Amino acid sequence: MTEDELLKLDAQHLWHPYTSFSKPTPVLPVVGAKGVRLELANGQKLIDGMSSWWSTIHGYNHPVLNQAIIDQTQKMSHVMFGGLTHEPAVTLGKKLVDITADNLQHVFLADSGSVAVEVAIKMALQYCFAQGHTQKTKLLTARNGYYGDTFGGMAVCDPVNGMHEMFTGVLANHIFAEAPQTLTENGEEVAWSPEFINDFKSKLEANHHQIAAVIIEPMVQNAGGMRFYHAEYLLAVRQLCDEYDVLLILDEIATGFGRTGTLFAYEQANIQPDILTVGKALTGGTMTLAATLTTRKVVDGIEADGKGLLMHGPTFMGNPLACSVANASIDLLLSSSWQERVDAISTQLQDELSICSELNCVKEVRVKGAIGVVELHQPLDTIWSQKQFTDRGVWLRPFGRLVYLMPAYIIEDTDLSKLTSSIYNVLSDL
Ligand SMILES: *Cc1c(COP(=O)(O)O)cnc(C)c1O
Repeated sequence: MTEDELLKLDAQHLWHPYTSFSKPTPVLPVVGAKGVRLELANGQKLIDGMSSWWSTIHGYNHPVLNQAIIDQTQKMSHVMFGGLTHEPAVTLGKKLVDITADNLQHVFLADSGSVAVEVAIKMALQYCFAQGHTQKTKLLTARNGYYGDTFGGMAVCDPVNGMHEMFTGVLANHIFAEAPQTLTENGEEVAWSPEFINDFKSKLEANHHQIAAVIIEPMVQNAGGMRFYHAEYLLAVRQLCDEYDVLLILDEIATGFGRTGTLFAYEQANIQPDILTVGKALTGGTMTLAATLTTRKVVDGIEADGKGLLMHGPTFMGNPLACSVANASIDLLLSSSWQERVDAISTQLQDELSICSELNCVKEVRVKGAIGVVELHQPLDTIWSQKQFTDRGVWLRPFGRLVYLMPAYIIEDTDLSKLTSSIYNVLSDL
């Protein structure tokens, strides 16, 4: 197939994320990827600043991850998980239990992040219902969250940025507290103040009889605005959940596996969730896989009425290829000096992006772990900016007013500098 034929068929038949067939935005054909470089059909190589949406933490085409998949294909690529089990899934379950909080002992293997969130919500609801608390049907969350595109997740996504208007009358009505106060505002640090939890606290106080669980992304609200918030807020959320006997679901699908400087972001608040979701970087960005972990207390609660079974079972649950490569990816991460790498990336992002704050179009520059964000006053035109960045040999995909970087941990200094200087240069032209 020539490049032209490919693009024509693509435009005719395929949906891309959040796009229109009548007003298509350009897509670039990729023929290969290695390390931090994407290779396009025309031979151009782009330095990737996106890690394919937080996932390819070890870079593309990693020989160790490739080998794990190849080895597993020689045994079996898939078998159903109902009534059967296998070593890749059991090893992964044990690994996830070992690297997460002590209380998390039980693992549900899901096939994508959104499904892991659905399972988390279902666990919380079943937990309450099995104990006779059938009025506990609501979730409490904070504005500016993002939890995936399936109906359960959508219902807790930010009601303004998310799809609430489109699905009014269909999405469950949950309770939204104000978004957490961010660590900085217009570039100035904002010290923690206990009043920042007031709105969340009063919503929990007023509605806890109806609330099955709180769901929140720990420390960083990701796709809902790339907002960093105080560990004190998360700690207060945990304490309030304990006080009102409400389960706490932490969604680490974006933040998990080192991105924010600790293996899991909740470690920064020294707390443990009741339910945890992981995904994205779980397989090093090679295959789709996610997981929902929970405690003995939740498991026992679900089964309290003597008939409670967790009612979920995807066809590709525990897929052996995905589990094998997840095991290889976690081993690779833990045996690497990921923490030093993330710290070094963080320092470099801080050093090299801060100059952007001198530009009139820039509202704020902020960095946390291996995440760099340049927030603008006005939204960027996606088509224009994609061309500007690819012309400069880098792959970045801003959304709205946010230009952001979340490189693979293995990125070299010079490649990261190319990404940061491209951002400065493109924004200088605005
Ligand atoms: C991406 C994301 C999801 C959804 O994961 P998918 O694999 O895209 O379904 C859920 N929660 C958070 C925090 C995410 O970043």
